[in-house]
Formats: sequence, C-alpha cells, structure tokens
Amino acid sequence: MKTITVGLVGVGKIARDQHIPSLARTPGIELVAACSRNAAVEGVQNFATLTEMLAALPDLDAVALCTPPHVRHALAAEALAAGKHVLLEKPPGATLSEIEPLIAAADAKGLTLFATWHSRFAPGVAPARDFLRDAAITGVSVEWKEDVRHWHPGQEWIWEPGGLGVFDPGINALSIVTAILPRPIFLTGATLEFPSNRATPIAADLAFTDGDGLSVTAVFDWRQTGPQTWDIHVDTDKGRLTLSSGGARLAIAGAAVGIGPEAEYDGIYARFAELVTAGQSDVDVAPLRHVADAFMLGRRQTVETFD
Ligand code: NAP
Repeated sequence: MKTITVGLVGVGKIARDQHIPSLARTPGIELVAACSRNAAVEGVQNFATLTEMLAALPDLDAVALCTPPHVRHALAAEALAAGKHVLLEKPPGATLSEIEPLIAAADAKGLTLFATWHSRFAPGVAPARDFLRDAAITGVSVEWKEDVRHWHPGQEWIWEPGGLGVFDPGINALSIVTAILPRPIFLTGATLEFPSNRATPIAADLAFTDGDGLSVTAVFDWRQTGPQTWDIHVDTDKGRLTLSSGGARLAIAGAAVGIGPEAEYDGIYARFAELVTAGQSDVDVAPLRHVADAFMLGRRQTVETFD
C-alpha cells in the first residue's frame, strides 16, 4: 500500500503537541511538509503558505489543517481544488454552512474529507457507547471546567468571533455525548457568560433533551483553577457510567473499567489513512450544530472583564 504523504498547515500548539508526533508513529502515512507564517518543522520541507506548498509538491496526497477555525474553510477549499485529501482539526468550520461546499467538493473529486473530533478517540468512548446501547438512560450531566490561562496562553483567536470561547473545549464534550448516546439530543435552553471585553463566552450552562424527554445538562467553565474537570455522567438502569479526564477513564456502577491508553491523535491518523484508502469521507457536524444552537437560543449575560 502506498504511503499517504501529508502537508501540515498551521504550526501551533496542537500541531506540535499531537499532530507531528502522531504522524511520526502512524504506519502508512508520513509528514513531508509544513506551512507556517512563523515556524518551521524539522526534517520536512517548509513553506510560508499553502499555495506555495501545493505548487511545489504536486504529488502531495493530503493536507492536515491545524489552524484556528475562522481561516479553515478557505484553506480546505484550496487544498480540495488542488486534488488533496483534507483532514480538519475540530471544529470543522467557523459556521455550519461553510462545511457543505467542502463536502460537495470532496465528493465531486473522489477525495477524503475528514472532520476530526479528537475526543471521540479517547479510550473510554467506544466502551461507553457499547454499554449505553443496551441501557435505559435516565439522565446525563456534563461538567467541563478548565483554566483558559493554562490551556490557551496567548491565543487571542479564541476570544474573537468564530473562536467559540469556552465552546472550544466544550465542543469536545459534545463530540463525546453525541457519540455515546444512542439517540440524538437537542438544546432546550442555555445561558452564555461573556466577559464585557470579549466577543466569545467564558462559561455556558446548557440544557438538552431527546424525543423521550431525557434530561441532559452541561456546564462549561473556563475560570477553573486547581483541579480540572472533564467529566460526563450517564445515569442508567444498570448504574451510573462516568467518563472522566476527557474520556481517558471509565467507571460503571462505581467500578473502574479497564480501557486502553490515551492515543487520540494516533487514532485520528489511523482513521484518516483508512478513509483515504477506502475512498471515503467522514464529516459529522452534530457537535458544531449544538454549539450553533447555543449561540441561537442562549441567554447572554455579561460578566467581569477577562485579561
Ligand atoms: P494555536 O496554538 O493558536 O495555533 C494555530 C496556528 O494556526 C497558529 O500557530 C498559526 O500557525 C496558524 N494560523 C493560521 N492563520 C491564523 C490566524 N489567522 N490566527 C491565528 N493562527 C493562525 O492554536 P491551537 O491550540 O493549535 O488550535 C488550532 C486548532 O486545533 C483549533 O481549532 C483548536 O480548537 C484545535 N485543537 C486545539 C487543542 C489544544 O489543546 N490547543 C486541542 C485539540 C484541538 P503559523 O504561525 O504556523 O502560521
């Protein structure tokens, strides 16, 4: 099988922390180039722009976009037009509608478009989904609380329109919830707290239900200092299921369940290689749709400035 060659776009935190190491470990796929306005990746060809990379490397197979969401559509459209498979970091776009032409372009050219949700590759997610398939679910509560100063130092784009604010991590929780619950949910109410000097929320309280009246609540907060919380609790007739540490730990009815080690981005690149080989795309916008609904239905509260 031919090795899939990849060019990375946007050499920021997630590219360095996860994409570059996972690409180096994943069989069948190889990082050969990077483009960045400010940085260079050792051992590969470096370019200042995607346009230059595409012109210089006509045989490149795929492009992985690790930029903030508001610049992703234009880059994805350019890569698809050049005949490249495209991997999108989460969220797949700054709006829902901009994703549609990308799906159409990939389909028309027989290319793979992969909208990744890294948290879905956390080791507890697949076993949780399997357990919940046969359980009677009576309630769901999500608590996603972290310190923005620790996790997003200097990232001004998260506070700008399209940057999602606290939904940047919160959408990871929604990507898990939408993967493990057997039926779709929809938003019924939300409160979004915006610092008076910022364009995106620092905290959000969400309520969802499903066709059977299930209660699903979620609290996202970026002001958490001390221990960080990335927990999802699902109450069922067989006891409470808890996914904690963002899906890295799983407990059912009070007992820890043995699951594999954390390997979210290795899972993403293995899946990307599989999709390219099979000539398929994988684009699920459900988590982003819930965020869009929260901005549409949410009551806005102004809170103290954030600097
Ligand atoms: P980041 O550290 O700010 O890096 C983003 C990179 O994108 C920048 O370093 C920059 O790279 C490039 N870029 C291109 N146009 C840009 C623009 N107009 N404004 C700012 N940067 C621009 O952000 P990140 O944390 O890596 O996040 C990137 C994406 O990955 C986001 O969608 C985020 O939700 C997702 N993600 C992040 C994490 C995390 O832990 N940080 C985890 C999972 C997913 P160059 O200077 O090289 O051009």
